[in-house]
Amino acid sequence: MNQITAHPPEAEAPATLERWLTGPRFAGLPARSASLPAPALSFEFFPPKNDALEAQLWTCIRRLERLAPRFVSVTYGAGGSTQARTHATVSRIVKETELTPAAHLTCVGASCGEVDEVARQYWDAGVRHIVALRGDAPPGQDYAPHSEGYAYAADLVAGLRRVADFEVSVAAYPETHPTALNADHDLDNLKRKLDAGATRAITQYFFDGTIFLRFLDRALAAGITAPIVPGIMPVSNYAQAAKFSAMCGTSVPDWLGTMFEGTEDDPETRRMIAAIVAAEQVRLLQANGVDEFHFYTLNRADLTYAIAHLLGVRAKPADAAA
Ligand SMILES: Cc1cc2nc3c(=O)[nH]c(=O)nc-3n(C[C@H](O)[C@H](O)[C@H](O)COP(=O)(O)OP(=O)(O)OC[C@H]3O[C@@H](n4cnc5c(N)ncnc54)[C@H](O)[C@@H]3O)c2cc1C
Repeated sequence: MNQITAHPPEAEAPATLERWLTGPRFAGLPARSASLPAPALSFEFFPPKNDALEAQLWTCIRRLERLAPRFVSVTYGAGGSTQARTHATVSRIVKETELTPAAHLTCVGASCGEVDEVARQYWDAGVRHIVALRGDAPPGQDYAPHSEGYAYAADLVAGLRRVADFEVSVAAYPETHPTALNADHDLDNLKRKLDAGATRAITQYFFDGTIFLRFLDRALAAGITAPIVPGIMPVSNYAQAAKFSAMCGTSVPDWLGTMFEGTEDDPETRRMIAAIVAAEQVRLLQANGVDEFHFYTLNRADLTYAIAHLLGVRAKPADAAA
């Protein structure tokens, strides 16, 4: 008799039907409970360098605006190199949209007085949320604090709280910041940033969801209760992402390279793969109770929009968003 057993002995290879019934299965798409609220989203943009990129950014902002994100953030170039462009982008978001902007601000290469002044200008422009970061030294150099500057992000958070009543978010590293002494020191640093007045951490991007979930467990065990929002990077240019990941300490699993194999000259397929990979990632997190996501949009709406839709977020009708 051909009995179906949970673990067929190695010697007897199961028949096709038997394998299907007893082997490991891939979970189907979960039906989102109607009583579950859609997750809270935030989107990150970078300030455009020219008119064409500005037009691309605004097409992206207008499309994503309809998803009613909790906030949108605009990055700040190394050493304040995008100061004027970041300010212009954030100010335009304040003036022309219903969105709540958050301006990124770094410590590197500026005195405390200069950084405080930039923060005051944001406050005067109506910006109430800052993403406070240390920033990095120019490529090839080690980071050294400005002699009259904020040395680390925790110092910047404390300084911002003195300037005005900003909401402050900070960075977190599920795979540990690349120059941290070790993972525990890095977690202590995150705690210092939150104790100094930040109310939320946004993570560096990662590809393996279990790394993020383990990091949440470690953070909780270290007494961190503030929200830690996963940073999601939908990757459609594998080669570029692999290079960037090596610099920022994000590990790239072998399976990701395998998925993109042979698509170097096929951007359309790459974007479809990117959507599937990111969708799998957020679904795993959502199934584990994560209900906030921060998307690194790279100023393009399509992937982020589709993944947000899969997560249960629905766009407002076009005329209601304006
Ligand atoms: C969500 C997010 C957004 C980002 N946006 C930008 C951006 O707009 N512009 C930009 O230039 N960069 C940005 N970055 C990159 C960030 O600037 C770099 O990762 C930078 O190297 C660290 O910044 P931080 O704020 O995490 O630094 P910190 O929290 O200050 O930590 C930096 C390192 O110093 C260590 N450290 C902290 N305090 C001490 C101490 N007292 N003594 C010794 N070691 C210490 C930490 O463990 C860590 O290794 C962003 C990163 C993330 C995750």
